[in-house]
Amino acid sequence: MKTPQAIVFDLGKVLVDFDYGITIRRLHAKSRISEADLRQLIDQSPLLYRFETGLLTAAEFFTAVREATGYTGDFAEFCDCFSDIFTPIDAMIELHARLREQGLPTYIFSNTNELAVRHIHERYPFFRTFTRHVLSYEHKSMKPDARLYEVVEEFTGHRGPDLLYLDDRAENIAAGHARGWQALLHETPHATVATLRERGILRL
Ligand SMILES: [Mg+2]
Repeated sequence: MKTPQAIVFDLGKVLVDFDYGITIRRLHAKSRISEADLRQLIDQSPLLYRFETGLLTAAEFFTAVREATGYTGDFAEFCDCFSDIFTPIDAMIELHARLREQGLPTYIFSNTNELAVRHIHERYPFFRTFTRHVLSYEHKSMKPDARLYEVVEEFTGHRGPDLLYLDDRAENIAAGHARGWQALLHETPHATVATLRERGILRL
């Protein structure tokens, strides 16, 4: 198997875990609709899709949620509900640090939004040690849409098997395979680290 020239990491459930349950409980405390309805509005929803493809700013997203829920908190408190929901996955952060020590360029490739990124950027130093970030809301496109994969190829200057890509979602991995990337479905840090060792990519 060809030695990759760059490593592309998904963010959510690969480098940080997250729990929208926290967001929904905090919003619910100041809203007039049920937790179930809030979940439908927020989690994997058309509204979140518009936010994460950059079609809505954070202020516009706030206004849309407030109109749908009667949320009475202010904008800063609303932003907090979407920020403090992450837990770093230390074994994967360590894997990334080792790949950097080996001199490999590394990229974040994420369906995400400006509130999450602002928080992770401030809170978790590992995020700033990547070569570059490909973030859905900055490119008006979400994985598995091919357009966002083209941005990765443009930013890295690599394509096909020169890219090794880790993601926990099968549809995103399938889109990577379709472009000829070395794409690996991430299930556990242990399994991913073992595979990278077997392929001779992780040497330290
Ligand atoms: Mg993910």
